[in-house]
Amino acid sequence: MPNANPTQHGFLEHLRRDVLEVMQSLFTLDEDKHVLLSDVKLGVLRSNATQRHGATRWKRQPDGSLDLEVVDLHPALLVGEWRGYALFVLFHEFLHVVGHRAHDATFRDLERLWPDKAAAKQGKAFTHDRRLARARWHWVCPTCEQRYPRQRRGSGKYLCKTCKTVLVDVPVKDIH
Ligand SMILES: [Zn+2]
Ligand SMILES: [Zn+2]
Repeated sequence: MPNANPTQHGFLEHLRRDVLEVMQSLFTLDEDKHVLLSDVKLGVLRSNATQRHGATRWKRQPDGSLDLEVVDLHPALLVGEWRGYALFVLFHEFLHVVGHRAHDATFRDLERLWPDKAAAKQGKAFTHDRRLARARWHWVCPTCEQRYPRQRRGSGKYLCKTCKTVLVDVPVKDIH
């Protein structure tokens, strides 16, 4: 994984401070967990990720135990425009850090406590935004004109989600 540059690092540290503050108001974080969340290294994902917006990485030790290594966020989240969603993604990763390893019912209950409900729902919008930024082709529906930004041609293999018409490839240079 790439290392965060100084600007990204500064942005990440502000996110950490804000998420910790909210978490402390939501539940009583014991001292151990507070230290874990204050100390965990923060980094960035590769910028070509579209569906993955954050990750918590662990390293297996020789004795088989897992050590927390780093929490990575998508670098495109580290801008003012996406700050609300970035806080939610970091909160999600911090729930993993404090020991909720799986996305089970308990995890989802905790995740739902995040106060900014609108931000918590921005995952699809961020994925779409990333796809638009990286798209070289739009798969266009000739029936309803819906567009699906993608990096590769569809080559007639995909159907419109809405009306099931075969999608047509249009290169991005013909769109802008
Ligand atoms: Zn997760
Ligand atoms: Zn359609």
